[in-house]
Amino acid sequence: MYRINKKCVQCGMCEMVCPKEAISIRNRNYYIDELVCDNCLEIKRPICREVCPIKKAIVTKNFPEF
Ligand code: SF4
Ligand code: SF4
Repeated sequence: MYRINKKCVQCGMCEMVCPKEAISIRNRNYYIDELVCDNCLEIKRPICREVCPIKKAIVTKNFPEF
């Protein structure tokens, strides 16, 4: 499961590409809804992380520096 941390510069790219529409702004920060995100099961790689211009802004809980 992925989450967005404080390195995010709020460019909005991840929200635009998420196939599940799991990403939105909450309390002025981009946020991944864990109940909606399926880790991009179909394409087998997290497209939000791929488009994010900021290194390590989207991380996993188990591997924060992933
Ligand atoms: S991993 Fe995929 S489904 Fe989950 S938030 Fe990122 S783009 Fe959306
Ligand atoms: S793509 Fe990265 S920097 Fe842009 S809003 Fe999403 S997490 Fe933030």
